[in-house]
Amino acid sequence: MINKQTINLDFDREHIWHPYTSMTQPLPVYPVSHANANRIFLETGESLIDGMASWWSAIHGYCHPVLNEAITTQISKMSHVMFGGLTHEPAVELCKKLVSITPESLDKVFLADSGSVSVEVAIKMALQYWLSQGYTGKQKLMTPLKGYHGDTFAAMSVCDPVNSMHSMYSGFLPEHVFVPAPSAKFNGEFSPAEADTLESYFAAHHQDVAAFIIEPIVQNAGGMNFYHPDYLKHLRILCDKYDVLLICDEIATGFGRTGTLFAVEHANIEPDILCIGKALTGGMMTLSTTLTTSKVAIGISEGEAGVLMHGPTFMGNPLACATACASIDLLLEQPWQEQIEHINDVLTTQLAKCKHLDAVVDVRTLGAIGVVELNRSVDVAKIQRFFIEQGVWIRPFGKLIYLMPPYISDEQSLTKLCNAIYAAIEQQAY
Ligand SMILES: *Cc1c(COP(=O)(O)O)cnc(C)c1O
Repeated sequence: MINKQTINLDFDREHIWHPYTSMTQPLPVYPVSHANANRIFLETGESLIDGMASWWSAIHGYCHPVLNEAITTQISKMSHVMFGGLTHEPAVELCKKLVSITPESLDKVFLADSGSVSVEVAIKMALQYWLSQGYTGKQKLMTPLKGYHGDTFAAMSVCDPVNSMHSMYSGFLPEHVFVPAPSAKFNGEFSPAEADTLESYFAAHHQDVAAFIIEPIVQNAGGMNFYHPDYLKHLRILCDKYDVLLICDEIATGFGRTGTLFAVEHANIEPDILCIGKALTGGMMTLSTTLTTSKVAIGISEGEAGVLMHGPTFMGNPLACATACASIDLLLEQPWQEQIEHINDVLTTQLAKCKHLDAVVDVRTLGAIGVVELNRSVDVAKIQRFFIEQGVWIRPFGKLIYLMPPYISDEQSLTKLCNAIYAAIEQQAY
């Protein structure tokens, strides 16, 4: 008898790229049959507790009946129509919600189709804004090291140069101004020297710089760095002082992950441009948005081009918009802050044990994020196998083993995730 599952995996290995992998030596992949709540079920029979929320996105867990219903209701009306010359209720409703829940000054919305594209659009907005104001020299971006903003070229050009292999594309990638990564810890002391250093970059480069782009409070894929809100406060002041727009990339941090609905709220600042994505549809499908202020939007529209030069084919996809509306309502109807505080309490208590292990350099938590930093990089294939044996789904990168579970995770599940991390390190299964 032919084993169906073997065929799937062979074909997969021979023909399909997975994220950041090789075609000749791919990392193993595990076939999923279905997923429900905070569980992922493999075709081989294992049931795994999810610690990743599918990369920050599945905040309500999988197969949520409310989100499923939103999709089926919408699909019976239309799954897609072009957004050029047409509009529809799901898009209008979603944009109304986004304008009302994001910082007050952000009231113009661009609907894009993935996080990286929303970053591309944010960058275009900033460049077009200054051009329309008659500043022809502002064609660079400024950004901290350790950032991550996506994999398309403009987005990649503002990612950490080492992590995203800028040297490989030199000559092709635009060169931007990199400042040191924020160093004061979220709960630490912010030193005025850090603000002075930041200002020295603004003073030296502002004439060439259209915008400063940063992930507020948590630099995620570039190292899970939780930094001090005062950094953002100073950044806002410097951007105003030196005529530089502030782009906050909340694609990972939006929708409660850090304990506030948006991470900029920790610093009580408003960016000029805001990118959101990932959890926007509750992890059901891809959708992102770029929001900006009237000042920037009107500035762009008064410029020579007169229009914002972007318009994806699947812009404003009704299915995705309807799902995003349902996901936002579902989140806001729940006591989400309490849920996230509870997740934080459990992660903080349970991961603290790891601090005593020799290989552990740091343990930190913020909102519904828990991070254990090791003194060496993990062997992803090896630790992945170990985690599956333990009945959990956790995917580390570099020296970081981290959790960002769905908000519906109960104490028992969270404890199991934390115990699996402890066991992996203690038994050197990495
Ligand atoms: C994931 C991510 C992106 C890219 O989003 P995609 O949907 O993968 O294109 C951009 N910025 C941040 C902060 C992210 O976490």
